[in-house]
Amino acid sequence: MNNNLKYRVGLLGATGMVGQTFLKLLENHPWFQVSYLAASSHSAGKTYAEAVAGRWLMEGEIPQQAGNLIVNPVGDVESAAEACDFVFSAFNLGKEEIRKLEAQYAEHVPVVSNNSAHRATKDVPMIIPEVNPHHLEIIPAQQRNRGWKKGFIIVKPNCSIQSFLTPVSALIGAGYPVENMAVTTLQAVSGAGYPGLAALGMINNLIPYIAGEEEKSEQEPLKILGSIKDDQFVDLDRLILSVHCNRVPVSHGHTATVSLKFRDKKPSLPEIKAIWESFQGAPQVLNLPSAPFPPIVVRNEVDRPQPEKDRDAGNGMAISVGRLRECPLLDIRFVALSHNTIRGAAGGAILSAELLKAKGYL
Ligand code: NAP
Repeated sequence: MNNNLKYRVGLLGATGMVGQTFLKLLENHPWFQVSYLAASSHSAGKTYAEAVAGRWLMEGEIPQQAGNLIVNPVGDVESAAEACDFVFSAFNLGKEEIRKLEAQYAEHVPVVSNNSAHRATKDVPMIIPEVNPHHLEIIPAQQRNRGWKKGFIIVKPNCSIQSFLTPVSALIGAGYPVENMAVTTLQAVSGAGYPGLAALGMINNLIPYIAGEEEKSEQEPLKILGSIKDDQFVDLDRLILSVHCNRVPVSHGHTATVSLKFRDKKPSLPEIKAIWESFQGAPQVLNLPSAPFPPIVVRNEVDRPQPEKDRDAGNGMAISVGRLRECPLLDIRFVALSHNTIRGAAGGAILSAELLKAKGYL
């Protein structure tokens, strides 16, 4: 903790699209203060302001205190361990290297990661705070397994599933298990980082392929909705997802169109709306600083949600749903939307860290 009794936070990958979003969202955070920044060797040794000169993508100025911090190399784990109480991880590197580096950090401090490297690790929780906060209970077992005393790793899931999994889990939680889901995502270009995709490839176009995204979108929900057995996560069975992922010329905001079939009983459409409108997760009950109220915004207009109009709902942390109707093939269908770099990345990770603090894990 620093003199203001805030947790000292390290940002690994601070110069990237997600890292910059973290900095903005943490600017006046009541519990966390960014005290350490790290990125690649290209940025290391520069002040943050120098490192992001010409590629600061957020609205407004670089937060002043962060602008003057010297950027460290991501590989310098010991300096980070001295300067931080925990770290957010959002750096790009090969999967195996990320896995190893995050484990080295976790020998010293908790790691809250945006990377996919540890999502399939059997004792690493993949958290959407409104959906599976109880999965944090595996942390003591993870620490025992690896001999870590203070540190551990938690991850957040892929941005593609954030829009639809919370509304679906609200239905499951209300007593309506789901059996089959067909999902098509329309994902913003900012999901590919900066500079990301070539503009000429995206203008007036759609790319019906995002490497690895469909596999993640079909697998990750099963772990998040799964259970803990013998100190490991066991996937939910009897749920099959088929997901198409598309990159579309939208700056921010991932949309998903969803058709689903319930396992046995089927709620009426007004009942589904009522479940979504009254849904509260752990962040709302605990009144966490970044929690959106309500977490699910139900739109009644025929043509909503739309990325430009709805991605900032709940400061970019709420999920917007709409176009709920019967499905002639499965049972129901709807459209869901979430902000990919806020709820789907930095904001979702910050909410997870707030949950860790509120539950006594930090
Ligand atoms: P980005 O804009 O390309 O930023 C990449 C970051 O990683 C920069 O800070 C960069 O530092 C650093 N980096 C690159 N090569 C490195 C190396 N060899 N060693 C150490 N650091 C290195 O990417 P992003 O969109 O912020 O994504 C970051 C991570 O979050 C990725 O794993 C991504 O999959 C995940 N994520 C992204 C989104 C999204 O919507 N964009 C959503 C969820 C998760 P330099 O500036 O010094 O090169």
